[in-house]
Amino acid sequence: MKNAVCLLYANCIPVKGAQNSIICDLQRHNYIQIPTDLYDVLTIHKGKSIPEIKAAYENKYDKIIDNYFNILLDNEFAFLTDTPELFPEMNLEWEDPLEVSNAIVDFDESSSFDLQAVLEQLSELHCRFVQMRFYRKTSVDELREILDYLDSIQSNSIGIDFILPYWDKNENKDFVALFKAYKRMNSVNIYDSPYGKHIHPVGHSKYLIHTASKVVSEKSCGVIEKAFFSIHLKTFSEAQKHNTCLNGKVSVDKQGEIRNCPAMPESFGNVETIKLRDAIKDARFKKYWNLNKDQVEVCKDCEFRYICTDCRAFTVDSSNDKSKPLKCGYNPYTGEWKAWSENNLKQSLKTEIV
Ligand code: SF4
Repeated sequence: MKNAVCLLYANCIPVKGAQNSIICDLQRHNYIQIPTDLYDVLTIHKGKSIPEIKAAYENKYDKIIDNYFNILLDNEFAFLTDTPELFPEMNLEWEDPLEVSNAIVDFDESSSFDLQAVLEQLSELHCRFVQMRFYRKTSVDELREILDYLDSIQSNSIGIDFILPYWDKNENKDFVALFKAYKRMNSVNIYDSPYGKHIHPVGHSKYLIHTASKVVSEKSCGVIEKAFFSIHLKTFSEAQKHNTCLNGKVSVDKQGEIRNCPAMPESFGNVETIKLRDAIKDARFKKYWNLNKDQVEVCKDCEFRYICTDCRAFTVDSSNDKSKPLKCGYNPYTGEWKAWSENNLKQSLKTEIV
């Protein structure tokens, strides 16, 4: 294969940032950082044989080019072929037949809205995923009641994630029993736990997670960290044209106000007086759904823009709809991560936003 082409597997997609570039492996759910020179070799010279690429650089960088391709081949990001035309790129078009795909419902001591009515409406909208966040203690029995109600209305679509504070009256074995009894329960995330960080897998793709994190309110959300990157075909393709947090989302805050996210200022009515279906008809409700990271300041130059989540509730400049998420400490122009709260601009806000 003297004139072979070194081709990336279709699931391995290079993304260029201002300083660094990466290859996202959508099958193995990881990424590797690559020199931006290699990104250029892979994109500008895509389809050319290795000798042709070397010749394009007047054979000055033959060793470097060999080294680049050896790394890709050794790590199974690429393969050699004489027939590159037989290996088309992956289609990244994203479509969802459902208007509402995911929801957040918040509770604290003061919540008095009719949860069953909200769940019934989400079921009618065929919402697939509901995250229920408790800012007060809740018992395993209360969770069981919620799950029983969903079973009673034969809501086949809804999967549930619970986020709740540690309470010594709840035992791990009781949560495990819930997982076994209710297939729709995907995860339980217990914060402020004395056990620190502990991930307990329960069956296939189900997790009981303890963390030491303090979750005080909806203001605790929106943190951008590498650990939260999602390197999956579904999220990567959705991120090409849509917002990675708010697309297809409806939220009910702890007072029953319908919002894009519980931490966002604009309410589209209260669940006691308006149906979710009617609230989301307001054209302003979908204002952010198609705001992808290619339009967001700074993020548009970041190599992580298609695997990172977004936050429109807390941004660097709240008067600018396209401002960078406030709780991100990454600088794509230097390639450095810092704690988001270290930024001077953010120090003044830190007391209000956790
Ligand atoms: S700069 Fe933007 S895309 Fe990059 S890590 Fe931060 S929030 Fe994500």
